Amino acid sequence: MRILVLEDEPDIRTSLSNSLREAGYVVDEAERGIEAQALTELFEFDALIVDVRLPDGPDAGFHFVEGLRAAQITSPVLFLTARDSLRDRVAGLDAGGDDYLTKPFALEEVHARLRALLRRARPLPANVLVQRDLHLEWAAKRVMIGNETVHLTSKEYGILELLASNAGRVYSRSEIADHVWGVDFSAETNVVDVYVKNLRRKLGAWVVETVIGSGYRFPQP
Ligand code: CA
Repeated sequence: MRILVLEDEPDIRTSLSNSLREAGYVVDEAERGIEAQALTELFEFDALIVDVRLPDGPDAGFHFVEGLRAAQITSPVLFLTARDSLRDRVAGLDAGGDDYLTKPFALEEVHARLRALLRRARPLPANVLVQRDLHLEWAAKRVMIGNETVHLTSKEYGILELLASNAGRVYSRSEIADHVWGVDFSAETNVVDVYVKNLRRKLGAWVVETVIGSGYRFPQP
């Protein structure tokens, strides 16, 4: 899961970004709308956390998100702001935001709201995926084969989650690297292949299908 944090106050940006990284997200940071916009042109984000008042202007966060929506980018947006008037909340939602949190906030609340946004953005049937002998609980990040819990590294889990939540869709090595590591190193190394090999060894070869010349996918039921 890749998240963009757009926040100009360094302390808030750093503590928020680090806490998200500790929770296993890939995080990109921006302090101005124009930087954030450049990142959204390069990468696909699963969600964005956007401060409203930026050096670009008092409503710069709103304008940034209006631009995203105009560009057909539908990733969920959580606005952060010190302002909490009804007018501002409405303006934020009208600009294309999905949720709104006023400062000061508790990091736990940002995490909880983010999880809720991600769940809504990618509705997953019953919060559990069962296919053949694989049992995957999204919220708990728990993976079982039969009755045995399988321990995956966070990167192995990241690949499985990406592929399994979009069963049948083919992901290139580059897209997988981008989502799971936050960088595209696919041209230089076969690291994605190594992780896929580990997943197959732990869960069964059927779990990741190779599409020759294109990439990998999780099979449709
Ligand atoms: Ca600010």
